[in-house]
Formats: sequence, structure tokens, C-alpha cells
Amino acid sequence: MQRDHRFIPRLSEEQFRDIQLEGLKWTVAHAHANSPAYRAKFDAAGLAPGDVRSLDDLLRLPFTDADDLRAGYPMPLRCVPEEELVRIHASSGTTGKRKVMVYTQGDVDTWKTMMARCFEMAGLTRRDRVQIAVGYGLWTAGAGFQIGCEHFGATALPVGPGNLEIQMQLLTDMDATCLCSTASMALLLGEEVEKHGLRGKIGLKKCIFGSEAHTPKMRARFESLLGLEHSFDISGMTELYGPGAGLECAAHQGIHYWADIYILEILDPATLQPVAPGQTGEMVVTTLCKEGAPLIRYRTHDLTRLLPGQCPCGATMPRHDKILGRSDDMIIFRGVNIYPGQIAAVLEKFPEAGSEYQILLTRTGGRDSMRIRVERGRGAQGGDDAGLAGAVAQALHHQLMARASVEIVDFGSLPRSFGKTRRVIDERDDS
Ligand code: ZN
Repeated sequence: MQRDHRFIPRLSEEQFRDIQLEGLKWTVAHAHANSPAYRAKFDAAGLAPGDVRSLDDLLRLPFTDADDLRAGYPMPLRCVPEEELVRIHASSGTTGKRKVMVYTQGDVDTWKTMMARCFEMAGLTRRDRVQIAVGYGLWTAGAGFQIGCEHFGATALPVGPGNLEIQMQLLTDMDATCLCSTASMALLLGEEVEKHGLRGKIGLKKCIFGSEAHTPKMRARFESLLGLEHSFDISGMTELYGPGAGLECAAHQGIHYWADIYILEILDPATLQPVAPGQTGEMVVTTLCKEGAPLIRYRTHDLTRLLPGQCPCGATMPRHDKILGRSDDMIIFRGVNIYPGQIAAVLEKFPEAGSEYQILLTRTGGRDSMRIRVERGRGAQGGDDAGLAGAVAQALHHQLMARASVEIVDFGSLPRSFGKTRRVIDERDDS
């Protein structure tokens, strides 16, 4: 079967820049003309729409943040009259008000193209059957996968999350070839397949997974249990249409993102200035054709880095790394920005080390020190703690460009909590 090439354009760098400048000018003019909230921001910054003449002018534009969504509740950043809206989605909202986004038909069409690109990037064809095991409802997941799958032309099996019995039935009887779910759902299904010895009876080849943290170990396990050829990490958020902002390709070297639909900046979260190419920083997004609720320099607080150079898969869409953590968790140590996710990435390379760690920051005589406590891996013996500590410290120094002392502690001795584990203990005072 011929691979589909219908949705991902092959654009040159110059073509991307032209599309981005055009889209940026349109977005700023649209937001200025139709949103009192954006107009107030531009006025405060002393900017008028005509001031955007080149892509460098992006750096002069004011930021937007989750606070702007809360301030404008229930329809923040709305830039079109009521009659042009065709849909409303909202995030599940763990605390406080939900993030609500409004969509025009044009926005829904853009989104379904973004999602169709994901299926194309994953190498699906119109003969594939796609088991969509994510939540349907007010949030964007189910709706996004559904419209994208149909627009792409594959067959959607909209089962939603949960109900293992029906999931198993669809996998075996309907011969689903692609699963769309969270990583933990894929693992759950994989374990169920193993338990019932169904591995030879299912035709699953691929999994598109996203929306939560996963470890390489977890991913390798569900790939093996489900007998997958590939799994693909998908990016996205409610504010930016929903899932489908980008997808890993079969080369598995980062996530290709749709640079003709939004601009991605990577900024130092402390200074809000661009980081050097390839350095880790906060993702800040600006939409180029979003009508209902455009985003201008929207701070996602997610950390990643751009991956320079051409991808071996041949796609010209630029790439960023997987999400490496949240900018709110950043530590500044001796002038260096450090993210807990970077430490986790180093620990992954040591099979004798566990995944739990704690960072302790202290100050003596005006000098900052960093001590990192690392758990031994489950079942690992404490034979050569000093050797392991030394090796981890060296790898951390190489990765972080900062020195830390490392202490190896027993498995299970560091505190665990559901949700956000408190990994950083900062005992430096700010005086
Ligand atoms: Zn690629």
C-alpha cells in the first residue's frame, strides 16, 4: 500500500518564513480589531498592527498566559461574533476555572488537517482502522482524533477510554491497526492482551499516545506487549486547538510540529528572551490562522528544545524534543538554569539507579551547593554506591554544566506522592 502524502506540505525554510510573516500580520490585525483584551495589551506595549513588518517583530509583542484565559472566562480571547462560532471545548480543569476555547468552522478545519497530518506522519493509510480510546466530551481529545481520522480517510472506531471488554473485542473482531490512547491505557491494554493470550489474535501495528508523562521503560513495555511496529508521541493542548500540534515520525528523533500553522519560540523562562538554538526553554506559541481565539505569544510553561537540522525521515517540518518538564519547576543554580526533567533524563541511563530523586539546595558562606539523592533501582544491591554516585555525578555535570554531589539511598526511601512529587528542597534564602 502506497503511503499517503496528502496533508503534510514539503516547504522550504523561506516558504515557512513567508507563511509565518503573513499569518503573524493577519493574527495581530485580527486580534487588535476584534478583542478588547488583546487591544489593551497592544496599547500598553505601545504597538499598532502596522508595527509588525518582519518576523523579528514577534519579540516585541506582549505575552499571553493562563491568567488571560481566566480573566476572559467564559470565552477568553474571543475575536469573532457569536454567529461564527460552531464549537466550544474546555480542558478538564483540575483547579479553578476550566480553560475554554471557541472554534469557528475555519478553526475546526485547521484542526482536522493538523490531526490528519499526524496520521500521515505515523504512516497510516486509508485502509487502517483506528481505535480511538481517549475521552470524548467537552475536552478536545476524542473529538480531535475523530475528525482527523475521518478527514484522513482511515476508519474510526470511537470507543472512548475504559471498558476493557469492548476494547479487547474491537482489537480482535474489528482488527484495529492503530490505537490512540494515553501511555498508561496502552500499557493496561497490553497487560490485558498478555493475560488472555490474545497477542496472536490482534492486528495492532501502531499506537499514537500522548497527554501525560511516560517513561521510555513504560513505552517499551506496551510496544512489546501489543506487538507494535511503532508508537508515536503526539503533542497538543486545548489552547492550541487540541491534540495534533505535532507528532513523532518513524525515525523517532523528536516531534515534527506544524510551523505553517503556529510559530514556536523557545524562551528562557526567567528572562523571556530566546535561548541559544538547541537549548532547553519554555515553549511559547503564536497561531497563524486561528480565528475564534487566536494565541499571541502564549506561554505554555512546557519545557523542550528545538532540534536543529534535517530529520532522516525527509519531512521538512521542524522538530522539537519531547516535553522535558514544566518551567515552573526551574531552578537557578550558580547562574545556570536547571530543570528536574534533565536530571531524570540522566538517571534513565543508569539501570542500577531508580527513577526517584530529590534535589537539595543549600547556601554556606554565600556559595550555593546542590546535593542530589538518588534511589537505588528496585531490587538493586548496594554494592558499589560510591562508584555509582561518582558516575551519576559526572554525567550530571556533563549534562547540566553544574556540579552536584550525589548520594545513593535505598529504594523506597524518598517521599512519593500522587501528582506532583516534591523533588526540590531549596534551603537557600534570598538575602
Ligand atoms: Zn522525521
